[in-house]
Amino acid sequence: MDIIHLLPDSVANQIAAGEVIQRPSSCLKELVENSLDAGATHIQIVVVDAGRTMLQVVDNGSGMSATDARLAFERHATSKIRTAADLFSLHTMGFRGEALASICAVAQVVLTTRREEDEVGTLLEINGSEVVRQEPCQCQVGTNMKVRNLFYNVPARRRFLKKDATEMRQLLQDFYRIALVYPKVAFTLLDNDEVVLDLPVGTYKQRIEQIFQRNTRRQFCDQLIDVKVNTQIVNIYGFIGKPEGAQKGNPQYFFVNGRYMRHPYFHKAVLNAYTGMLQGEQQPAYFLYFDIAPEAIDVNIHPTKTEIKFADEQSIFQILSAAVREAIGKFNVSPSIDFDREGDYESAPVRGNAVPTSLSITANREYNPFKTRQTPPANWERLYRTPDTTPINNVSAPIEPEPMLDLQLDPQVTITAESVMQFDDRYIFCAQPSSVLVVDRYLAHVNVLYNVFSRRFEDSTSCSQQLLFPDTIDLSADDARLLNSALDDFRSLGFDIDAIGPESFVINGVPSELGEQNDVRTLLDMIAELSEASDVREQWHRRMALALARKVAVPNGKRLSADECVDLLTRLLRLPTPAFTPDGKRIVTTLSAKDIAALF
Ligand code: ADP
Ligand code: MG
Repeated sequence: MDIIHLLPDSVANQIAAGEVIQRPSSCLKELVENSLDAGATHIQIVVVDAGRTMLQVVDNGSGMSATDARLAFERHATSKIRTAADLFSLHTMGFRGEALASICAVAQVVLTTRREEDEVGTLLEINGSEVVRQEPCQCQVGTNMKVRNLFYNVPARRRFLKKDATEMRQLLQDFYRIALVYPKVAFTLLDNDEVVLDLPVGTYKQRIEQIFQRNTRRQFCDQLIDVKVNTQIVNIYGFIGKPEGAQKGNPQYFFVNGRYMRHPYFHKAVLNAYTGMLQGEQQPAYFLYFDIAPEAIDVNIHPTKTEIKFADEQSIFQILSAAVREAIGKFNVSPSIDFDREGDYESAPVRGNAVPTSLSITANREYNPFKTRQTPPANWERLYRTPDTTPINNVSAPIEPEPMLDLQLDPQVTITAESVMQFDDRYIFCAQPSSVLVVDRYLAHVNVLYNVFSRRFEDSTSCSQQLLFPDTIDLSADDARLLNSALDDFRSLGFDIDAIGPESFVINGVPSELGEQNDVRTLLDMIAELSEASDVREQWHRRMALALARKVAVPNGKRLSADECVDLLTRLLRLPTPAFTPDGKRIVTTLSAKDIAALF
């Protein structure tokens, strides 16, 4: 008996759909890209339950004829390329003709569409690849695509979706990647009747501000420096944040020929230009748009992949790094430079016929971004305000540390003011009979605090300090969703935060250990930390505890008293894993007499 048979189209489409449509955000991306390809200038998006129940995209683009509307849902049906050669002169976002076929295989779709030249439009209803209705209808010019109950017929996939808050955040983030490239297209986005984003037509910079400029993000928004360089290989334009505005979680975007891309190598090129200007985990904001001849990049990319290959990555690395460095230097020379020379950005296409211009880079070596920086506040005392600090009144009492990962401790470690020594306001040496402990003080403190904060999620022993003047913060739509879903966790840690609007919050109190630290900044850093975490609660808690510990720990360069060093070491050695931070950084090492002898 023959056993091979062809899969019915509906099944084949469902399988293919798994590739293209993974979650509501990828569905939205495909629909919006189609609207843009159809020349729409206004696109309205309605989302219900993060797109799980309904996703609707209404555009004023070209619309479709009755025949095209029907054909559009077939696999490999596209109006955008005819031959493989066309791939190399792509000007549209889509070209594979797979998206609509995939979407209608796993959802219930209702389409109404009309072209300007047609008196009546077309209504088409498709459930799981099956056309259930097609008839003429009255509708506006353009296309209205309503996608309901995504994955209704693929329960495994539907179960795989994350909670609404997470899906919605992903959806917004994917949407930003498109909206940032089309400032000349107006967008509105509604989430269950609430207007989340209303983006009127504007300039690139205005679009960035519309999305990110809330008072708390202004730090980078008010400080965008423009970047522009034209070369034979590539034209780059856009904005970078001033070094002073660098902070964890700042938005960073690369686009190539109107498409978002991830490019770790070019990211390095940008960071390269900021060498010596960033501290710790600070990240500059950047929005950089590349225009390059299509034949110089690999266009046959998978719709869900955002990595793009370039023919000449090394040269582009150099050009990019130099351009960013120049922009930083230039800004410092004439900070009043007019950044809104809009026309410059609008007319930058290279597309193979670039006008060669010379690239002259004159970085200002005098520029010192640190000169206005304040040194961190001297508030190491916070160490002793930790509520569950057991007062160490007998500092020389022997302690019994838990077994430590490859850390050789003398059986009876005694830590006394006489045996510890601080070095470089950064390390603590602790002499034992047969070895010397060398401790990274900051990391030790982080580890101790991390353990304190971690426990709060279980026993809610937090101690909140009310602010005399509560701070309000406004967040971008995606960050606001994140904070909303983590409010209880923040409260466990001692933050007293309430939502006062869809994207506004008031901070009434902070964990008492935070002391004089900037509460808004701390909160933002923690949100940024969370946005990199997975959906698992424990991981959130770990990240939050660690982020807060990093903020509260006494920074390097502040001197501790001998007693404080003793206290810190004592508490460190009581932890289950004193030798490493939760993120795997080594805190303690030992030098034996033999190690020291080997130095001579
Ligand atoms: P692709 O975008 O790769 O061509 P799709 O499956 O996304 O494939 O769309 C198939 C075709 O349907 C498109 O080529 C286009 O002709 C038509 N189409 C889809 N969405 C729209 C829209 N919003 N307005 C006009 N035409 C559309
Ligand atoms: Mg498409």
